[in-house]
Amino acid sequence: MVALVIERVGRQFRLWDEDGGELLVGYARSRLYRAAGGLYPGDRVDVERLGQHDVVIVRYHPRKNLVDPPGVANVDRVLIVMSWRLPDFDEVHLHRIRVRALTQGIESVAVINKVDLVTEPERSELAQIFEAYRTGGIPLYPISVLQGEGLEDLWTVLRGGIITLAGPSGVGKSSLLNRLIPGANRPTSEVQLRSGRGRHTTTSTCLIAAGPATWIADTPGFQRVVLDASIAPKVVERAFPAIRRLAAACRFDDCRHIREPGCAVREAVETGELLSRWYRFYRILIHEIETGPVV
Ligand code: GDP
Ligand code: ZN
Repeated sequence: MVALVIERVGRQFRLWDEDGGELLVGYARSRLYRAAGGLYPGDRVDVERLGQHDVVIVRYHPRKNLVDPPGVANVDRVLIVMSWRLPDFDEVHLHRIRVRALTQGIESVAVINKVDLVTEPERSELAQIFEAYRTGGIPLYPISVLQGEGLEDLWTVLRGGIITLAGPSGVGKSSLLNRLIPGANRPTSEVQLRSGRGRHTTTSTCLIAAGPATWIADTPGFQRVVLDASIAPKVVERAFPAIRRLAAACRFDDCRHIREPGCAVREAVETGELLSRWYRFYRILIHEIETGPVV
């Protein structure tokens, strides 16, 4: 029987039986546990039943990625939360997180929260931003957690898989989580499991059921994203579909679109075919990769 790890509590695990749709409590055999180098929420395991809800974990499935911290495996999507104000929309950081997630093969969906704080003169600027992202193939949605605006549309694109939140502090991540899943925000889990060392109240990361086959990690990831030389320029290119499309026409396969001759991307910036917005962020991120972050 295959089960999804929801949470770790010492040497015990809360697991979700995806076929039967029930919560299980499992133990991992120590030799197995050490050999695997840990087990995280989001991991899939084979279990054998010991009692009604008690199981023993007998095999770990290979994981496709691990976002650590907070330690969540098999992440399908990152929900990047930014706010329009308080704090100000940080567009460079948005793309920094997108690139970092892509290095692990994880796609992002982003929101600008607190659109209730948009002033009248700012409205056209904001409309322009969303239009640019729509045509640029980068998912970005306006929401106001406070006013409950845009949440249904967001939910429609988000549904399915394992999701982690990301974004600076104060943007409204916990407010959003609580709005999407009422009761999700709790400093410590109410679920208590008994172990050899007495009772544990869990403080670890856990997956919260957010709908059919949809899980959201209760602790955000990608909190201190810094781009460095370990990141391939091609990953940055991949983060901007409009640039990626043009890159096929560059003279060199490994063109970084900075100084190379015969660069179709730079040419498209000059003719206005490529929105300068994308090239600006692309260049900032390539610069960070090459020289380290600008402080
Ligand atoms: P986190 O640090 O990202 O988890 O942010 P919080 O969820 O703690 O929210 C930070 C602050 O922003 C709180 O005071 C929230 O009430 C406020 N906030 C959250 N969403 C909205 C919103 O849509 N509009 C406004 N004006 N404030 C919001
Ligand atoms: Zn080029």
